[in-house]
Amino acid sequence: MSKTVEKCSFCGRQKQETLVLITGLNAHICDSCVQRAQIILQEELVTEKKREIADYKLLKPVEIKKHLDNFVIGQEEAKRIISVAVYNHYKRISHSHNAKPDDVEIEKSNIVIVGETGTGKTLLARTIARMLNVPFCIADATALTEAGYVGEDVESILSRLFQVADYNIAATERGIVFIDEIDKIARKSDNPSITRDVSGEGVQQALLKMLEGSIVNVPPQGGRKHPEQKMIQINTQNILFITGGAFDGIEKKIAGRLQTSRIGYKIDKKHDHVDKDNLLQYISPVDLKAFGLIPELVGRMPIVTFMHTLDRDTLRRILTEPKNSLIKQFVKLFEIDNIKLTFDPEALDFIVEKSIEFKLGARGLRSILEGIMLDPMFELPSKGTNKSLHVTVSFVEEKFRKTSLAHLKVA
Ligand code: ADP
Repeated sequence: MSKTVEKCSFCGRQKQETLVLITGLNAHICDSCVQRAQIILQEELVTEKKREIADYKLLKPVEIKKHLDNFVIGQEEAKRIISVAVYNHYKRISHSHNAKPDDVEIEKSNIVIVGETGTGKTLLARTIARMLNVPFCIADATALTEAGYVGEDVESILSRLFQVADYNIAATERGIVFIDEIDKIARKSDNPSITRDVSGEGVQQALLKMLEGSIVNVPPQGGRKHPEQKMIQINTQNILFITGGAFDGIEKKIAGRLQTSRIGYKIDKKHDHVDKDNLLQYISPVDLKAFGLIPELVGRMPIVTFMHTLDRDTLRRILTEPKNSLIKQFVKLFEIDNIKLTFDPEALDFIVEKSIEFKLGARGLRSILEGIMLDPMFELPSKGTNKSLHVTVSFVEEKFRKTSLAHLKVA
């Protein structure tokens, strides 16, 4: 009886002609066909990804806001404004693809979010990008300097976006960039200096070009470490820039403006009331200028919105309500070890109370929870089966006392 010769079912090479011949149910595949298949697979996946990016769903503002509600608690005004802005932005992109030569050109509107640190500015921008399935990156305005100075060139932001977009130019060109701490590059007008304002106005000028929509030469690897690298060109016309900052003290500028705008005008009595405790709600581009952003840059970011300081109620909701809330994350972490984790509502109130007491905001919630849950996270995985942990207020009080946070001085 003749023995059947084993050969690759794809290329027909016999076993001895291959390095490895893998045997399946009714077929064989050789090492070189596996390698070739791998290349085809990669190409297909890239095409698929491109297609996905091209097919991003154009949700309506109400739907965008609903989606944001799943992740960002409160901040109703900002969510509404940003939902409309994002909708218009992507409508504008699809319009420009089908536009006739004499059509009205819709200009892009970048966004500024004014609000204390930890109020959800980055979360909002990130959630939008995830929803639209577009590349997203975060840049810190304080790290940027004018070209030629020590620090990062503004182009490095686009290098990062390009990397996040898997080096795909088309995807990069419709991404979202979040520039944090934009207030820190404000012109310090009341502090004139004969030296050049490296971190301030020059950076604003450099950002201007990028924000308004232009073709920018970008080093694909970022930085200046590889001077020999070939530049790529990125058109920023359809990149949405969302900037954020605390703008410490801007309330004074708002109050001043509201004050002067009243003088000499007849004001309708009904609308005369100014909510002095929440002046940020009246923020306008004029205030950003007064704060020290150059008028051209303010002009490139026509949508201005604000974030509320997180109050007790919002912090409490942040603990449990978002789709990936902290409590849901901890329950999941324990579930992986077959531990049923539950919390008394009073225990959660205590965590919120401490975060407020120590002025830690939403970021503090995580630090406190991590501290409180350290012992059980250390001990429980090694204990027997049928494990559960019910977290009571006395449990959190006791554990909190052991954490380093408990020794913080209240400012
Ligand atoms: P910012 O950019 O304003 O400094 P972040 O978006 O980085 O603040 O928020 C810090 C963390 O606090 C986020 O990761 C999120 O978990 C939480 N957080 C802050 N604000 C909210 C909010 N409104 N809703 C849900 N989570 C929030």
